[in-house]
Amino acid sequence: MGGICPKCGLPKEICACEALEREGAKRIKVYSTKKKFGKLVTIVEGLEEGELDKIAKELKRTLACGGSSKEGVIVLQGEHRDKIRQLLAKMGYQEDSIDVV
Ligand SMILES: [Zn+2]
Repeated sequence: MGGICPKCGLPKEICACEALEREGAKRIKVYSTKKKFGKLVTIVEGLEEGELDKIAKELKRTLACGGSSKEGVIVLQGEHRDKIRQLLAKMGYQEDSIDVV
């Protein structure tokens, strides 16, 4: 008696929510936040460490903004959330693995 999964409504024996959640560690998160002096920055988290510099460079070039990348996080000057999903998709990332908050 596994019961019903509260997330998808399928019997727990066949539901894939847990497996999907494990993969969810791979999700990319995009959000913006205010730095000191009220400057807005856009943060991209969850990218592969090895890809980070390349992607940061490409985003900065395409968005014509400053930014930096370290410890798995890209910080871009300004508000770019609306464009980043599309840009990452162009670079081969799955659009539905990108959470724009
Ligand atoms: Zn489920």
